[in-house]
Amino acid sequence: MSTVLVVNSGSSSFKYQLIEMDGETTLASGLVERIGDAEGRAKHTVFAPAATAGEGAATFTEATYKRRLPIPDHTAGFRVMLEAFAENGPALDAHPPVAVGHRVVHGGARFFEPTLVTPLVEINIDELSVLAPLHNPANLAGIVAAKKAFPAVPHVAVFDTAFHQTLSPAAYTYAIDAKLAADHRIRRYGFHGTSHKFVSEAAAAFVGRPVAELKQLVFHLGNGASVTAIDGGRSVETSMGFTPLEGLVMGTRSGDLDPAILFHLARREGMSIADLDALLNKRSGLLGMAGSNDLRDIRAAIEKGDASAVLAYEVYVHRLRQYAGAYLAHLGGADVISFTAGVGENAPHVRAAALETLAFAGVEIDAERNHAVGRGAPGADGGIHVISTDESRVIVLVVPTDEELEIARQTLSVASA
Ligand code: ADP
Repeated sequence: MSTVLVVNSGSSSFKYQLIEMDGETTLASGLVERIGDAEGRAKHTVFAPAATAGEGAATFTEATYKRRLPIPDHTAGFRVMLEAFAENGPALDAHPPVAVGHRVVHGGARFFEPTLVTPLVEINIDELSVLAPLHNPANLAGIVAAKKAFPAVPHVAVFDTAFHQTLSPAAYTYAIDAKLAADHRIRRYGFHGTSHKFVSEAAAAFVGRPVAELKQLVFHLGNGASVTAIDGGRSVETSMGFTPLEGLVMGTRSGDLDPAILFHLARREGMSIADLDALLNKRSGLLGMAGSNDLRDIRAAIEKGDASAVLAYEVYVHRLRQYAGAYLAHLGGADVISFTAGVGENAPHVRAAALETLAFAGVEIDAERNHAVGRGAPGADGGIHVISTDESRVIVLVVPTDEELEIARQTLSVASA
């Protein structure tokens, strides 16, 4: 039985999951946070087959352990994680990870596949911090610390941008001064690639056709949101660009806007670059328009007749529709459209509204099926569900994403190559 440890490291926290790869089941997961604060926190959850379940049954129980203690840096954080495994299980010597997979946000134009971490790869990840100053240094801190905790196994970097390295120059080039763009590596990279790859492959398996034969759209709608057009398993367009700010309306990010708005605000409001960055990344999107980044709050406010919530919702849906239409044009139609992540998996009204006008392209949502899939609904079983009618030419699915499992799969493929 081989296990893979998946690590997703931020600047003051990291998440981990130990996944058993034969059955692709999570044995434990955890979160170490407030690294560097006076008091850090560690949470460790163990998943075990339920005692009452029969042999091979898929029923799992979970037990969660929490601790508070100073965690000065990521290296200390991994020691805390190892203690959590030793004290609460599963015993790592009984399930030793054969490899550690690391989520890395930015792979630039250099990394197009999961990559064994070598000293040179670490230098490259560090150097790409120019393009992802908040993420890559934190991802690298996690790699360096995890290598101390697991010195004898391969560590593999899985990049959010890698899946989109198949974009054509026409899709990834911004229409600006070519030399400046080249000097500063300004182009579209795309993000959420691990999720788009996982969902498009799961959707293909579900409809029982090779991914190579399918034209697909995947809407990853969480706090961050992006949509990708996938032709034969290759990403050909995606809504996030040079950074994860471009494209759809998100929880706190604006998505697309006229860049001249920034010049105008700088001139008229005296806003600095830091102010504008914070405005567009942290105080825009649903939050900026209607006071909450959570779509559930927006829906509740709409029920109460809040006009700003109504407008925010309409803007959100309008942008989804715009991208759906554009991407169907790029692909020349689609075979499968999938929705995933917090909003995509749980908000039937958003799914219906996004595709409402696409009957001409062969898209027909079944209202009853659609409303049966979401949190609290009968279809909330973690599985894949069809929400289109039997007559719909395009199959529309809700596919729960699992980025950790995708990282684990890719990690194992590199480690066992
Ligand atoms: P992240 O992008 O941070 O990983 P998720 O994919 O978990 O986030 O999505 C979180 C978002 O999903 C929330 O901010 C909320 O807007 C939305 N969401 C979660 N549950 C529901 C629900 N039942 N109905 C509508 N929206 C939901």
